Amino acid sequence: MYETRSCFRPTHILSVIRSSFIRSFGKGGNKKVYSQEDCAISAFAMFHLKSPSLLQFQDVCRDKDKKGNIKSMYSVKDVPSDTTMRERLDPVESEVINRAIHDVIGMAQRSQELQDWDFLKTKLISLDGTGFFSSSTIHCKNCCEKRSKKDGSILCYHHEMLVGSIVNPFQKQVFPVLFEPICKEDGEEKNDCERNAGKRWLKHYRRLYPNMPTTIVADGLSSNGPFIQALKEARCSFILGAKEDDHKFLYDWFFSAEEPDVIDFTEERKSVKHRYRFMNNVPLNEKNFDLKVNVLMLEEEDLSHLTKRGKEKKKLAPKRRWVWVTDYPLTLENVRTIAQGGRARWKIENETFNTLKTQGYHFEHNYGHGYKNLSNVLAGMMLLAFLFDQILFAFNKEVKKAFEKTSSTYRYLWQKLKSLFEEWIVDSLEKLYLSVFKPPPKPVL
Ligand SMILES: [Zn+2]
Repeated sequence: MYETRSCFRPTHILSVIRSSFIRSFGKGGNKKVYSQEDCAISAFAMFHLKSPSLLQFQDVCRDKDKKGNIKSMYSVKDVPSDTTMRERLDPVESEVINRAIHDVIGMAQRSQELQDWDFLKTKLISLDGTGFFSSSTIHCKNCCEKRSKKDGSILCYHHEMLVGSIVNPFQKQVFPVLFEPICKEDGEEKNDCERNAGKRWLKHYRRLYPNMPTTIVADGLSSNGPFIQALKEARCSFILGAKEDDHKFLYDWFFSAEEPDVIDFTEERKSVKHRYRFMNNVPLNEKNFDLKVNVLMLEEEDLSHLTKRGKEKKKLAPKRRWVWVTDYPLTLENVRTIAQGGRARWKIENETFNTLKTQGYHFEHNYGHGYKNLSNVLAGMMLLAFLFDQILFAFNKEVKKAFEKTSSTYRYLWQKLKSLFEEWIVDSLEKLYLSVFKPPPKPVL
């Protein structure tokens, strides 16, 4: 009946998540009425079903049939109330969610299917920060604060996190591997926050994934001496954006160099002119003169605005230019691949954050703030639900078919799953997805 390998069936992935929670909380949790893992899995179910609020999820759980569906689909013994869920998840550390993310990634890795995402025999991980909460009144112990420069008064409270996701220039799906909440102690400036959280992210990453060959791709905020040093210590290769304003010394060195120190060539593919310029062993800046990086520039110019005789037929498209620093020794053979890796960075913004914010996940909704960790825990749980969906879209044939059946749009698929969930008694997650492309016969009144 099912064409998909058993490890990629939703019930199996859910059992991996449940086992991870049980290992983190200890069997039976703290022996209260609801086990800690039931509280965590209920929150996961809320995000998997894309409920827009805890209250609406509770309304669903009050209905006998739907409560039965949650129990049978997610193996939850009893669904806790919204207050209980908030109270029990507030003290949970984000490490618990990261371990569950790690266990799902480990399962996909062991299946060998994740090899299709390999980049130069490593996993290409796009690292970037995003905000998911902001308020002038609601706050908790771990909120970041934005203060007035005039009198130091608090202007707003906010939460942000740094997320690393496996990306590949030729694959649509992205797989989050680890998130690191940005905390008050990281500073008030965006740059400081991301740099400090970035170093912590690397330490946590290597603790959870000690042997994963890795290339980190990130924006210009990361191409500074201390972070490159931290990347080297963590045994990570890197492709980092380098902006002219931050790297005047490097730009002067790189653009004033002449052949044979620098290689510069142009080629045309599909009406686009590509100019590559690269140079190895360039000092990062005066302060870090001994820290040598390899520099690659790609310039792209769309030529489709020109007729065959070179005359303009439409408005001139602007030239686009990227400059990266990397530890990969650059050669005529690998610069195209390195540039593709560098450009895959946008996938974390487009395929991860934008999907979470605009494609039905409600990333910026406030599901409950708590006093300690709740805000970070719920955002992490949503990331786990996103990973669950991405694994299914990549490797589960039934879910792929369901996605195609719903015009390949996330929103329509969520809507379809939700209506099946609300109208039918469903005994497993597999049946729910199967019902999208093999719907049950419509009852006649
Ligand atoms: Zn807070």
